[in-house]
Amino acid sequence: MKSKGTVYLVGAGPGDPELLTLRGAELLRRADVIIYDLLVNPALLRLARPDAELFSRGKRIVMPQERINEMMISRARDGKLVVRLKGGDPYIFGRGGEEAEALAAAKVPFEVVPGVSSIVAAPNYAGIPLTHRDFCSSFTVFTGHENSADAKINLRYEEIAKIPGTKIVLMGTEKLDEWTRSLIAHGMPADTPAAIVESGTLGRQKSVSGTLATIAVLAREKGLSPPALTILGSVVNLRDKLNWAEKRPLFGRRIVVTRSRLQMGAFSRKLSELGAEILEIPCVKSATPDNKNDFIDALLSLNSYDWLVFTSPNGVSTFFDFFFKRFHDLRDLGGARIAAVGPGTAAKLRELHLQVDAMPKEFIGRKIAEAMAGDGSIENSKVCLLRAQNANADLPRALEEFGAIVDDIALYKTVAETDDYFGAARNFLEHGADWITFTSGTTVEYFHARFDLPRLMKKFPAMKIAVIGPETSRALRALKVEPAVEAKEHTPDGLIAGLLRIK
Ligand code: SAH
Repeated sequence: MKSKGTVYLVGAGPGDPELLTLRGAELLRRADVIIYDLLVNPALLRLARPDAELFSRGKRIVMPQERINEMMISRARDGKLVVRLKGGDPYIFGRGGEEAEALAAAKVPFEVVPGVSSIVAAPNYAGIPLTHRDFCSSFTVFTGHENSADAKINLRYEEIAKIPGTKIVLMGTEKLDEWTRSLIAHGMPADTPAAIVESGTLGRQKSVSGTLATIAVLAREKGLSPPALTILGSVVNLRDKLNWAEKRPLFGRRIVVTRSRLQMGAFSRKLSELGAEILEIPCVKSATPDNKNDFIDALLSLNSYDWLVFTSPNGVSTFFDFFFKRFHDLRDLGGARIAAVGPGTAAKLRELHLQVDAMPKEFIGRKIAEAMAGDGSIENSKVCLLRAQNANADLPRALEEFGAIVDDIALYKTVAETDDYFGAARNFLEHGADWITFTSGTTVEYFHARFDLPRLMKKFPAMKIAVIGPETSRALRALKVEPAVEAKEHTPDGLIAGLLRIK
């Protein structure tokens, strides 16, 4: 496998991290060094190895091009696998060609991985196909920023104005007035349909449409700013019919996700598939419990239990991580029956091909005990409760009231998370959000300790809160903050359903 000592110029795609290619993802996972541009969605860096060296081309201090070239070359010569991550496709503007030339000149092995360019992706996400049999059969791409280092060749508006077909203008928002006027002056019809898309494919995408004559004013009114591109041509008229992305139910909503990094993936993805812009601000993480001995004792006497009760997917993973460190055969689990609180927990168990014997419909102590008792009873049953340290006392109490003998075993403890991984917390504190979502009371407490929730609600009065269930609402009300949505079904999906009801 050739890889070490090679530089890969990788297209990061237009913004939405899901639009990275499989090849790009694979290389990001393997990279020793990643040098990424400002246009690249930093969420992609989640794929990087924890020990990978990451360099941002930066906003305030822009790393000069020579420095980037030197760095790629020297790291590759040290035998490193270098990924140079560039927005969209590496060979469309943005100097990818020059970087590859520098590598070739230095005789450093390199490969170029194409990316989904904003040229095709941003119009698509604004409901505009670039070609259509009824309207045009060609498209032209040019830059509206003549002085940019990317466009040393002067644009000839008198010629561009005469080219038939769709036109896509990159880097053109700053000089929109000038080049639209210039095109009209050179004979392009002033009523040519026109649209601008800012931050296309991202949850914060904004777009506006009008005509060649009006688009500059409309863009100013709507406050559009780079990165944005402009589309000119009659295909823009299809927007009303084809605008699937902006019609998604949560499009344009900024939603803060506070659950732990390990748990947030699926939840965030569902929300962004519904069109939302996600700010991932994990406020909890799981750590080793203070006392591990109880768990070790329980592991050694699993055979003595009638029931094993899991209350979270994280609990299931943690339990089996430990279990397989000590045992090498699943049969060492013994013959205890298994109860799962919540569909996520049950799904995690089923992944391991374990049957779930009891799964309560409601996640309060008494209902769980009733589900376990079923038609019979759990009197004198030995129950091993496998969950977080300091979890709610309601469940063991209910089980004991039903006559069970309960060992409440701490598998992990939940501690505060304060790292701001991709600048989401900074962004949030500056601009606020439409929604903050909480999936546990502990998360509310840690979020409040970090950000002072009531003060934030005052600063951003339109911001609303959605919670997973009554226990989380209680934690919120203790801070005198009222949730706008409490999920009917106390699961992450239930919470999303709640958001969809209100919108
Ligand atoms: N290589 C990139 C283009 C780099 S030039 C690509 O293939 O997409 C930078 C310009 O691309 C920006 O000024 C803007 O015009 C456009 N652009 C990049 N990402 C964009 C996005 N998400 N939405 C709209 N325009 C975008």
